[in-house]
Amino acid sequence: SQLTVQELANKLDKNSSEIIMKLMKMGTMATINQEISFEIASLVASEYGFELVIAEGDNSEELEIETLMEIEEDKEEDLKQRPPVVTVMGHVDHGKTSLLDAIRKTDVTSGEAGGITQHIGASEVNINGQKIVFLDTPGHEAFTSMRARGAQVTDIAILVVAADDGIMPQTVEAINHSKAAGVPLIVAINKIDKPSANPDKVKQELADQGLLVEDWGGEVIAVPVSAKKKEGIDTLLEMVLLVAEMEELRANPDKRAVGTVIEAELDKGRGPVATVLVQGGTLRVGDPIVAGLAFGKVRAMINSKGKRVKVAGPSTAVEILGLSEVPQGGDQFVSVPNDKIARNVAEKRQQIARDEMLKSNQRMSLDDFFSQMNEGEVKELNLVIKGDVQGSVQAVKQSLEKLSNEEVAVRVIHCGVGAVTESDVMLAAASNAIIIGFNVRPVPGAESLSKKEEVDVRTYTIIYKAIEDVQAAMTGMLDPEY
Ligand code: GDP
Repeated sequence: SQLTVQELANKLDKNSSEIIMKLMKMGTMATINQEISFEIASLVASEYGFELVIAEGDNSEELEIETLMEIEEDKEEDLKQRPPVVTVMGHVDHGKTSLLDAIRKTDVTSGEAGGITQHIGASEVNINGQKIVFLDTPGHEAFTSMRARGAQVTDIAILVVAADDGIMPQTVEAINHSKAAGVPLIVAINKIDKPSANPDKVKQELADQGLLVEDWGGEVIAVPVSAKKKEGIDTLLEMVLLVAEMEELRANPDKRAVGTVIEAELDKGRGPVATVLVQGGTLRVGDPIVAGLAFGKVRAMINSKGKRVKVAGPSTAVEILGLSEVPQGGDQFVSVPNDKIARNVAEKRQQIARDEMLKSNQRMSLDDFFSQMNEGEVKELNLVIKGDVQGSVQAVKQSLEKLSNEEVAVRVIHCGVGAVTESDVMLAAASNAIIIGFNVRPVPGAESLSKKEEVDVRTYTIIYKAIEDVQAAMTGMLDPEY
């Protein structure tokens, strides 16, 4: 799974000294015949616009870097206009959810479908024959966690400010987050139906934040709305389209699909399901894809109206079935030429992820070192947590981590959505951890592996039971009190 500098240079059709220079800039000293890791080689390749793809060698255990997949460059003439993707942000209770509801109801087509819209993590509305995509999770946490993972999915942010309350701390946060991301912002001054509404006060406070609205001579678009009375919604959506037009949002629909996982979960009946946003290219049923550490062939696609579809072009959110495991929100997905590449890339990524995790276990930051020194003899309880949905995983993680005290630190070394897999067991074995499964079970292979590796896998359906057990395990670890 390694290749030498010379081999990489040959593949890239570059002079080996040039590659050595690149490596040096990246902080890696290597000679011409030295082997470099896949990650490093990938980084170098990506600088030349190539993606390294692994193919299986003669020895099936051994992975070899064989092909270079060209990252498809979009030509100017291939770019077509695409619909905007919008996130709604703002302070709690200012009406984000109500506004999203009101927006969804303006869409005639969803009414025609009988009004039963399945929740897939994103919704689409049509206004004047033009499409707008809304991400369904309001708030800047979702927005920022995506960005933290390198995903930029939002084109336009709608900042909801309640006219009776004005700018609040989370409003300021939302402003800063959209600024940091360079995402244009449209202000929806909400709750104008309330007698206590004071839009001018909101505009003043926006000005104090450096956002001067249009009717005060600035450039910020602010639309008075009432999510409750469904007033001003059309105007707001027209403004979204206007800003979208100014942004010249474009994508090439005629290439293999690329995009981002919006959310994903393990469905009892359907297996791993992921809502993905196609950002470039076109995704089709049957396409082999890689999404984060998961891979598979798209078995079915369901659009935001709950209908099965066969194709999804740029700026389309679809729920997809057929993945090997549950990817994480913010993971990138790409459609690849064939199943074998999909599997190999995913497996290679899993291996890298495992290696990284082990490395980070051994490594210690200065901060850690300092606190360990101060703590004296620290004892740690390492945990791997898997669960059925992101929400429960986070809840279990937080409640267990809270159990940490001066003598024992509870450390969640890995957590995720989905069944307990072989890689979870290997990770737990390597770091002496206990596996907690919440509403999920180990896959058969993981079950036998855990026996062999003597890894304790515990499954729960009630959070409190898990807390109780961990607490008991901790008292066993604590120094006896006299
Ligand atoms: P979120 O926390 O930002 O998602 O806010 P919600 O959408 O849950 O709304 C918070 C409260 O404000 C709810 O009780 C809504 O009914 C109410 N609300 C939302 N929009 C309006 C509005 O336009 N007018 C009035 N009077 N109340 C609203």
